[in-house]
Amino acid sequence: MLKCCFYDTKSYDRKYFTHGAEFQFHECRLHTNTAATANGAQCVCVFVNDRLDRPCLKLLAKQGVKLIALRCAGFNNVDLDYAKELGMKIVRVPAYSPNSVAEHTVALLLTLNRKIHRAFNRVRELNFSLNGLEGFDINGRTVGIIGTGKIGRITAQIFRGFGAKVLANDLFPSSDWAMENNIEYVELSELLTTSDIVSLHVPLLPETQHLLNEETISQLKPGAIILNTSRGKLIDTTALIQGLKTRHIGGVALDVYEEEEGVFFEDLSGEVLQDDELSRLLTFPNVLITSHQAFLTKDALQEIAKSTISNIEKFENSEPFLEGTEL
Ligand code: NAD
Repeated sequence: MLKCCFYDTKSYDRKYFTHGAEFQFHECRLHTNTAATANGAQCVCVFVNDRLDRPCLKLLAKQGVKLIALRCAGFNNVDLDYAKELGMKIVRVPAYSPNSVAEHTVALLLTLNRKIHRAFNRVRELNFSLNGLEGFDINGRTVGIIGTGKIGRITAQIFRGFGAKVLANDLFPSSDWAMENNIEYVELSELLTTSDIVSLHVPLLPETQHLLNEETISQLKPGAIILNTSRGKLIDTTALIQGLKTRHIGGVALDVYEEEEGVFFEDLSGEVLQDDELSRLLTFPNVLITSHQAFLTKDALQEIAKSTISNIEKFENSEPFLEGTEL
């Protein structure tokens, strides 16, 4: 039976992988220093913050690893060309529940805009004052969606449900979908200058790294809100902090962060946070951060486990993978 080592696992992952194959669960992330733990495995199953760069892949190949099964959609953390050069197969879960991420994106916006997090804490302290809790109606506002793939489209449709005007930008626009939902594709610069809320749903690629940087942030409408539930490196954090300090940016909600590796998913409550930019972000009253939890619904976890096990079985039985799965 195929032996598969799982990395960066927590109890909420493990409970969905109750399957006969020989699964070994590691809490640690997979990178060069931990690659030796895959000894004897033909498969490694990894998540968003495992780092499968050249040195790590070389060590895995030496130990006989033939399959990299990503239990996520994004694959920016794997050197695909080198893995293929080493004769490895790389598979992912291309779509598990785009609704989970889209719904979390909107939850972040509603929380940030209506100050629900602050109100919750206040009321528990018997502080029933409303000072500083002012928000705005989403109805009638303009929302810019960058990346109209599976998640971006659902997010756009939810915002249409609120009665917002939705602008979109994508390298490959879906004209029929846009027409059906009364959504308008525009150039990136127009989206940035006219949106009250900008939400990122593109994958992290060399071309999308620091999509929001000093220049593009300066193009934003003053007071605009930025939502990022896609990948941290889409935003230049230094430029983001500058935009918040000058009050050009109205608010930021992040489920992902540029340097989240080794921080997100961990309980560091007894530690001294070493990341000064993350520490600074946490001081702004108009910044809301969750630690990469947008995917975390029962539905998504079940679907991730089902697809990952199917990918491993297909590899084991030399069957073709489902479309969009193999990278
Ligand atoms: P998708 O592949 O369905 O859609 C991505 C879209 O981005 C495509 O339509 C593509 O054409 C477009 N795109 C690519 N490069 C672009 C560019 N330079 N400019 C404009 N558009 C561009 O992906 P998806 O399933 O919607 O997921 C989007 C991203 O969400 C993933 O890549 C992943 O990084 C992130 N994600 C986050 C979580 C989480 O828990 N926070 C969970 C799943 C996915």
